[in-house]
Amino acid sequence: MIPAAFDYEVAESVDHAIELLGSNEDAKLLAGGHSLLPAMRLRLARPAFLVDVGRLRDLSYVQEEGDWIAIGALTRHADVAVSPVLREHCAIVSHTAGQVGDPQVRHRGTIGGSLAHGDPASDLPSVILALHGELVARGPSGDRAIPAREFFTGVFQTALEPNEVLVEIRVSKLGAAGWSYTKMSRRAQDYATVAVAAVVHGNGTVERASVALTNMGATSLHATAAEEALVGGASIADAAALAAEGTEPPTDHAASSDFRKHLARVLTRRALEEATNH
Ligand SMILES: Cc1cc2nc3c(=O)[nH]c(=O)nc-3n(C[C@H](O)[C@H](O)[C@H](O)COP(=O)(O)OP(=O)(O)OC[C@H]3O[C@@H](n4cnc5c(N)ncnc54)[C@H](O)[C@@H]3O)c2cc1C
Repeated sequence: MIPAAFDYEVAESVDHAIELLGSNEDAKLLAGGHSLLPAMRLRLARPAFLVDVGRLRDLSYVQEEGDWIAIGALTRHADVAVSPVLREHCAIVSHTAGQVGDPQVRHRGTIGGSLAHGDPASDLPSVILALHGELVARGPSGDRAIPAREFFTGVFQTALEPNEVLVEIRVSKLGAAGWSYTKMSRRAQDYATVAVAAVVHGNGTVERASVALTNMGATSLHATAAEEALVGGASIADAAALAAEGTEPPTDHAASSDFRKHLARVLTRRALEEATNH
């Protein structure tokens, strides 16, 4: 199918993009186009006006800022995957960016687009959630930082206002923490059937862990029962058995809801084991 008709303009700056978004209540930003354009071709999305931010290269960067790392929202997955700063200080992000789709997707898709799209099957939302990251949105009245746990509000829904641009993602350095992003998909380039992001604190054991699940509900979500069990001294196996508590994963062509719950338990155990050895 071809998309419904739409107007199109290239934004020259973030402020210009915000102004253009405000000029049409049915406007959408276009970044890498690798989620929006497929949705438009299927007519699942029919924006009247596309504001192209894909050429705002000043929003493509990865830089250290004290204990934090700042990632520009227009940084493409392929650049995130090879970023020396991320590889040294927060390798779960660069590793996971390298797991997204295939090389073509990684060379067009952006980290900001992945997060702003709000797809519970996307990989990077769980990682930013597990890291307790922050997302910086810019609108007509300036910047605001949104904690990752408040950013994802529903299937394809986020806390971004219609006239806001996601400009930056901030994550803290991992330091001595171990990590894992363990993804199960049916074919190499597929979205995750289920995946688990784990960040583990402890010296060869798990004293505290942040565990986030991909494709286990309407948004990426914390495996809260497993996290609490670990703080209470449970073994990895016992905590992982609780990974699907409170989740309502979908049934679709890739897996049933029950099979997803099974995968969440198995992948959480593997992720926690891998993270303790990283
Ligand atoms: C074949 C294929 C396989 C894929 N496999 C995977 C996979 O395995 N894992 C995975 O995680 N993803 C996968 N993807 C999705 C891919 O990662 C997309 O690139 C990404 O989800 C969206 O990024 P984008 O820059 O292309 O955004 P776009 O498609 O341009 O935009 C997506 C949405 O985000 C909004 N948006 C974009 N940028 C901003 C911004 N800065 N501020 C506010 N709103 C913004 C847009 O308005 C739109 O609503 C796949 C895609 C394809 C086509």
